[in-house]
Amino acid sequence: MKLALEAFIRLIYPANCGICRRFLTLRENTLCSDCRETLTALRFSYEAMNTVFRSGDLNSGWFLYPYKSPVKDLLTGLKFLKKRHLTNAFNDDIGDIMTLIRSENRYDWIVPIPLDRGRKLERHFNQAELIARRARKSLNLPLRSCLKKKHSTMRQSTFSKEERIWNIRNSFKVARADSIQGKSILLVDDIYTTGATASEAARTLKECGASRIDIFAVARTQTELRKQVN
Ligand SMILES: [Zn+2]
Repeated sequence: MKLALEAFIRLIYPANCGICRRFLTLRENTLCSDCRETLTALRFSYEAMNTVFRSGDLNSGWFLYPYKSPVKDLLTGLKFLKKRHLTNAFNDDIGDIMTLIRSENRYDWIVPIPLDRGRKLERHFNQAELIARRARKSLNLPLRSCLKKKHSTMRQSTFSKEERIWNIRNSFKVARADSIQGKSILLVDDIYTTGATASEAARTLKECGASRIDIFAVARTQTELRKQVN
């Protein structure tokens, strides 16, 4: 009877796994149990989630997964196919890492890395803000979208590390800059690649008097991880 009811509900409200497209049971959310297991297996160990930066304006970084499939597919679907609900696939893991972050640091605000106006109009949402909203639920902190893009920049993904720094330089501004003084801020983004964007955001906020800037990103590219080890 229960199975028949489930089948009936899924007939009216069908839902597919965000990775393998299999039909979901009522107990599954966004991902099927197999893909959920694959995602969990990919997660960094608690020790590997945190990176302390030895130079620059960013103090430390928190990362959940390496940027590879299926995390890469989920983030691509979120960003380019506009499937906002795919952020739910990360909900539990974001909750876990936020508990870890809360035990290590106290922040005043959560600040998403902004999109420029044109890209936000085209996409209708900022994926970093969706992730930041989930993070704030666990941290119970105000989410402030005080960081803005001054002008459009070319897509960072097409550039080398040096070109990314040049592309993003001076592209941020801060709304109500006088309120930043002394604030400890957790920046949030979907992917951390070379760190050029997060570093420029941190530099801009520190110029306004912020005391500490850390970054949380769902995924971190492996090239940077290898560099870190070497
Ligand atoms: Zn699946």
